[in-house]
Amino acid sequence: MEASPASRPRHLMDPNTFTFNFNNDLSVRGRHQTYLCYEVERLDNGTWVPMDERRGFLHNKAKNVPCGDYGCHVELRFLCEVPSWKLDPAQTYRVTWFISWSPCFRSGCAGQVHAFLQENKHVRLRIFAARIYDYDPLYQEALRTLRDAGAQVSIMTYEEFKHCWDTFVDRQGRPFQPWDGLDEHSQALSGRLRAILQNQGN
Ligand SMILES: [Zn+2]
Repeated sequence: MEASPASRPRHLMDPNTFTFNFNNDLSVRGRHQTYLCYEVERLDNGTWVPMDERRGFLHNKAKNVPCGDYGCHVELRFLCEVPSWKLDPAQTYRVTWFISWSPCFRSGCAGQVHAFLQENKHVRLRIFAARIYDYDPLYQEALRTLRDAGAQVSIMTYEEFKHCWDTFVDRQGRPFQPWDGLDEHSQALSGRLRAILQNQGN
């Protein structure tokens, strides 16, 4: 007999996939995919209550895989999933993304997220990025677009990496092992993000 969805164990991420993709050293090579771990909370009497059944992770689809209405990018795959959750417009929700690469401008990702937040005022979005694409002004513009849409954009610190490891990874009881330079990279990226968000791009 098939288990009901509620009792089915949540799909967890392979530990090596996590440490490979979420490494926050910008000099690492070969991270061509974007991974997105998400969780959803519901506001209840001034307190954020986690919705355990609304936790999961996604990654970009390979180019040859058919995509949904929105497209292959992980940000858009997330937007595709939300309607199926049937969130109550009378309630307030907080979505948190832990994303290996900052959302992009190409493929319209930042613009689509902006539109989604405009249309869904009952949903707030926090984005914690492991790495940001900052070499291209368009990617910087994407970060400002998300901020202007009301999203809180931050860089992942030890706390968020550990939280993701504990929550989304098939860690088999092993504690999170930070890689060399995690804090330094995180601090450098936070400074970079601050500068990008302060710069109006003119
Ligand atoms: Zn994208």
